[in-house]
Amino acid sequence: MNDSRHRERMQKKKDVVDERIAKASEERGVLILLKGNGKGKSSSAFGTLARSLGHGYRCAVIQFIKGRRETGEYLFFRDHPQLDWHIMGHGFTWETQDREKDIEAAQAAWSIAEGLLKDPNYQLIVFDEMSYMLKYGYLEPEPIVEALRQRPHHQNVIITGRTMAQPLQAIADTISTVQDERHAFRGGVKAQPGIEF
Ligand code: ATP
Ligand code: MG
Repeated sequence: MNDSRHRERMQKKKDVVDERIAKASEERGVLILLKGNGKGKSSSAFGTLARSLGHGYRCAVIQFIKGRRETGEYLFFRDHPQLDWHIMGHGFTWETQDREKDIEAAQAAWSIAEGLLKDPNYQLIVFDEMSYMLKYGYLEPEPIVEALRQRPHHQNVIITGRTMAQPLQAIADTISTVQDERHAFRGGVKAQPGIEF
């Protein structure tokens, strides 16, 4: 391709992009769902958290599944003055089989979440692995949808989890599915700090 054809093509591309930019003029917070079986949902949410904190915004994280407490992200972010980090009380894990206790903990975590969703000081809230609470019926979708709808206009929310309830998908602005194409774990590689947690 010669230089002038390349220039022409790039100009066309730029025109298309400029038009889209001009159209996307609304300023408001968004609801982002990160789902699917591949690796990259929570790490993407925490990447976005770093972005928001970098801009000086007040942020919060609620982890609905208590796996390892001392994850790298927790150790890194926990002392940040603009961030609140909550880990669900008793904490649902794959090892617990106490449904009653799980429900109690999920509801306690949700009441913290509800408070955050009413507080205009929070620019970004991450609900990590929240989708499991809906999947197992520990939380009902209606109050969550309602609270998300009523939240402050500029507030961004990210929810992660492998499967996402339909009512959440119906009101989301951005939905990304992380597809599992290959994972080192199945190739026999042990989960490692700094990569998995
Ligand atoms: P990450 O936190 O690495 O972004 P994730 O949030 O997308 O992962 P989860 O389902 O929350 O995925 O994963 C829980 C743990 O299992 C994490 O340590 C993650 O790195 C790892 N993991 C994620 N996807 C897979 C997979 N397909 N096979 C094996 N392990 C996985
Ligand atoms: Mg995750």
